[in-house]
Amino acid sequence: GGAAVAGGAVSAGIAGAAPRPGRHGREVEKLLDRMTVEEKLGQLQQLAWAWDTGPGGGGTKDVEDAARAGRLGSVLSIFGAKSTNAVQRIAVEESRLGIPLLFGLDVIHGFWTTFPIPLAQAASFDPAVTRTDAEVSAREARANGVHWTFSPMMDVTHEPRWGRVAESCGEDPYLTARFAAAKVEGYQGRDYRAKDRLAACAKHFVAYGGAEGGRDYNTVDVSESRLRNLYLPPFKAALDAGVATVMASFNTISGVPAHGNAHTLTDVLRKEWGFDGFVVSDWTGVQELVAHGFAEDGAAAARLALTAGVDMEMVSTTLREHGKQLLREGRISEHRLDEAVARILGLKFALGLFDDPYVDETAGAAVDGPTPATRGAARSAAARSLVLLKNDRAALPLEKSLASLAVVGPFADSADLLGTWVVPAAAEKYPSVKVLDAIRRAAPGAKVTYALGVDAAGEDTGGIPEAVAAARAADVTVVVVGEPPALSGEAAARADIGLPGAQEKLIEAVAATGRPFVVVLVNGRPLTVGGWLESAPAVLEAWHPGLEAGNAIADVLFGTVNPGGKLPVSFPRAVGQIPVHYNHESTGRPYAADNKYTSTYLDLPPDPQFAFGHGLSYTTFAIGEPRLSRTGIPARALRAGEAVEVSVTVTNTGAREGDEVVQLYVHDLAASITQPVRRLRGFRRVTLAAGASRTVRFRLGADDLGFWTNDPRGEFRVEEGAFDVYVGNSSTARSKRRLTVT
Ligand code: BGC
Repeated sequence: GGAAVAGGAVSAGIAGAAPRPGRHGREVEKLLDRMTVEEKLGQLQQLAWAWDTGPGGGGTKDVEDAARAGRLGSVLSIFGAKSTNAVQRIAVEESRLGIPLLFGLDVIHGFWTTFPIPLAQAASFDPAVTRTDAEVSAREARANGVHWTFSPMMDVTHEPRWGRVAESCGEDPYLTARFAAAKVEGYQGRDYRAKDRLAACAKHFVAYGGAEGGRDYNTVDVSESRLRNLYLPPFKAALDAGVATVMASFNTISGVPAHGNAHTLTDVLRKEWGFDGFVVSDWTGVQELVAHGFAEDGAAAARLALTAGVDMEMVSTTLREHGKQLLREGRISEHRLDEAVARILGLKFALGLFDDPYVDETAGAAVDGPTPATRGAARSAAARSLVLLKNDRAALPLEKSLASLAVVGPFADSADLLGTWVVPAAAEKYPSVKVLDAIRRAAPGAKVTYALGVDAAGEDTGGIPEAVAAARAADVTVVVVGEPPALSGEAAARADIGLPGAQEKLIEAVAATGRPFVVVLVNGRPLTVGGWLESAPAVLEAWHPGLEAGNAIADVLFGTVNPGGKLPVSFPRAVGQIPVHYNHESTGRPYAADNKYTSTYLDLPPDPQFAFGHGLSYTTFAIGEPRLSRTGIPARALRAGEAVEVSVTVTNTGAREGDEVVQLYVHDLAASITQPVRRLRGFRRVTLAAGASRTVRFRLGADDLGFWTNDPRGEFRVEEGAFDVYVGNSSTARSKRRLTVT
């Protein structure tokens, strides 16, 4: 992958699955025997460090008192070698049993070195990008006392209004599963006892991305088949990669909140999948069973969550408060309590905390900021994540020898391009490289003029004339517009997903000059790109690119890097079209231009503005017809592990080196449960020199051709019948072959 870094500072990534943490059975049993009920309940409690406030946010004193009393298992949102050691010392030296604490933090796309947001990483269609992020993050975070990250997030979503689409890999379960596995491998390595690794957490379990209307935390009503075909596969992939923990989600699942859902947390996760790590609640998620109208009070919430399968309670304290009473009354079992404690202690043993609970504070050993190598990795990751949406008449790349350039828009001179979920100290010390600065460096001979034009969100258009004047005087104008990071992320749903404020007016005014210009978008979700799209010769989707934002954008604008990213989500034409995604089912009346009685809107075409998998390059590619190793295969053979090989030749037909993502989709034409019109089942990002060709091979096996039924006990079926196999460079690929399963 292109994310590798010179000098070997970032390892190439570990192939294969990480080992299970193991239960460390004997050590755990011995310790359990010595624990009081209070101490056991204490292991189930996680409290927040002081800087993070919010409902139930704790303070340092709460944490220290609980640690001293042996009534605390874990602390979240704490980091730094000195602070973590100080709290750890209380638990280890002052509590009766000296059980070390587990320190967790949301290291989502970087610790010091902020990588592009996860949605952007998914756009690279290169799992090595996310593995590298995880490796760098793990090294930096672990050196700063963190043992455990609440990542990767793997909520598939068809809702661009949902702010957390920024943290996701978008709308496809297969792409998400591949990225989830790579990220787990990157964090955990072969053994997270190592001082440069973290235990990972698969979240949010499950179907959180199905929030009605895209409003965060909202209701999800989902059939068993959709649960299993759309939302569960990334979690299974994370488990297969050895993920240490799982976090429950805030939503209800068909009427039963995820935190009290025995079907998902116990039947599927434990019994079907055999998961032996622990489940942590989300922030006050156990207490919230009351607000959901599922538990009548805190005691009931504690009982329902523990019984359903939550092992550790984040921030709320229902188990700590009511656990003893519930045990006495026989409403929770000591066996279940011991099981939860054993899983948590198991991870502490696996992390080596009983041998060495502290982190080295000496300056030389501490990893205290980005290095040239990690910056290089972040820059490469960001550049690989950029998606060229439109490029008429080769408006891009720009010539480095341009005499003059105007750079306008609210994000041109902004260092706030890190995206959601940034470690606060990192955001302060290591803000992103500005686009304006990077453009100045990339084109040192050009006269570069800057004008703000408009604010990111305000309606004031007073600055537009200055931007227009700059555009008139320049050979080319780069307009940098988008969403501030605060507009996407948790609790950041938007009803209108167009460019905020007066930004569209700025683009229109620049377009009206008739001078050449290109648009760079920085945003955490799909945007409705509106009327201005027509007039813009080129549009580059840059997402929230992280620490090296400006450099990565300049690399692509000037052609140092040829863009090769693809959309991991569809861009709707209008909010009223949502949900619009490539993997929808067909109706009995699929769209046909000559028929008015079809499932579409009168005032919009049926397809999205930009489809899943779309993305252009500065060169051109030809993807040949797919070839199948056989055109028919018995279902029995598939079940026994045989597969059909699909091969396709991709050729760089242009004049410069570039990347193409070859994509494989299947459609099951008739099944006992209607199937999506297409499902991604393979992708490969290849780099080809001008004129070069390569044959890419995929395997289609039972996993790719079968599906989960509505049976709650989990039935995966491979049915006979015809399948269309599509290969191309986006979800609208036309080349197909027929495969028959007999
Ligand atoms: C989020 C989680 C996060 C947790 C801890 C919650 O609000 O939903 O994704 O890990 O906070 O910060």
